[in-house]
Amino acid sequence: MNIKITKTNSPKPHPDPSVLGFGKYFTDHMFTMDYAADKGWFNPEIIPFGKFLMHPASTVFHYGAEVFEGMKAYRRQDGKIQLFRPLENAKRMNLSAQRLCLPTVPEEDFIKILNALISLDEAWTPSAAGTSLYLRPFLFGNDESLGVHPVQNARFMLIASPVGSYYKEGLNPVRILVEDQDVRAVKGGTGYTKCGGNYAASLRAGKRAQDEGYAQALWLDGIERKYIEEVGAMNVMFKIKGQIITPELSGSVLPGITRMSCIELLQQKGYTVSQRKISIDELISALENGSLEEAWGTGTAAVVASIGTLGYKGKQYTVGGGKIGKTTQELYDTLTGIQWGTLPDTFKWTQLIK
Ligand SMILES: *Cc1c(COP(=O)(O)O)cnc(C)c1O
Repeated sequence: MNIKITKTNSPKPHPDPSVLGFGKYFTDHMFTMDYAADKGWFNPEIIPFGKFLMHPASTVFHYGAEVFEGMKAYRRQDGKIQLFRPLENAKRMNLSAQRLCLPTVPEEDFIKILNALISLDEAWTPSAAGTSLYLRPFLFGNDESLGVHPVQNARFMLIASPVGSYYKEGLNPVRILVEDQDVRAVKGGTGYTKCGGNYAASLRAGKRAQDEGYAQALWLDGIERKYIEEVGAMNVMFKIKGQIITPELSGSVLPGITRMSCIELLQQKGYTVSQRKISIDELISALENGSLEEAWGTGTAAVVASIGTLGYKGKQYTVGGGKIGKTTQELYDTLTGIQWGTLPDTFKWTQLIK
């Protein structure tokens, strides 16, 4: 794959790190590449960041043929930039693409594209504490016709956005509301993929939680509304009597890369981690008898989010005294240390940008 590069002649000023927030600013360039069933991938290019033309009948607008990834590039203290387990994102995007009958992108091309855009927009990876360059690869069906069938034409793009520190005053415990009406996903559906449609279907519960003063919804399984699946767009972990429990990857749970990394780190630190079904009743009784010590969410954006309050059936429960637990903090410190290169990467998870 040879990426054609057209540089912008009007580079933008870089925002102050204190105003970054999430996904509001974009770098000077973006990557785009087209696919046709009879040609494969063609026209890989990096062009100035900006709007582009689409056909009104494009598949993505009508039938939701879209998958994406979310990952970050981190500026180390020595000035170098590194990615965290990028191959896992490549593999997961292809797994998502296969579920939606979209073409897959060869893993080595995915990595090459990331390197090309990050190094061309090198100065856009911020260096202030907690900041990073958020990368959003996305892939969508782009047939210019309304017929319903697996797509013949698609586009893969990569955009990049400098983002601020997720936590302004350190790890603050969040309030979570158990959602017992809407479901995010069911086994056999698209729950294990990162597709836009999953997000569209989850917004109502998220809004309901926010209207009631909670940060996010906790999802239960779609069949029995009994087993815990995820929290918002994060995987979830519980520490009960010193042991770590996280819902198993049942097909409706998103296989998070942060989740996988936390499991490996916890096991290395000597914890027992069980990936199994955990019902909301088991969780509530652990809350009531005091054996639930900690609860946290895991995901690329927040890395680890401590859960301080759980709302369920009109009651509010405080988790771990509403404070950040020892294991939650330990995981956050270790993972962020590896990601920003301040701790040794014994797992070989990071990859320098060339
Ligand atoms: C992206 C995502 C996660 C977290 O995955 P990471 O790879 O850890 O960022 C969890 N749940 C959902 C629904 C997601 O979309």
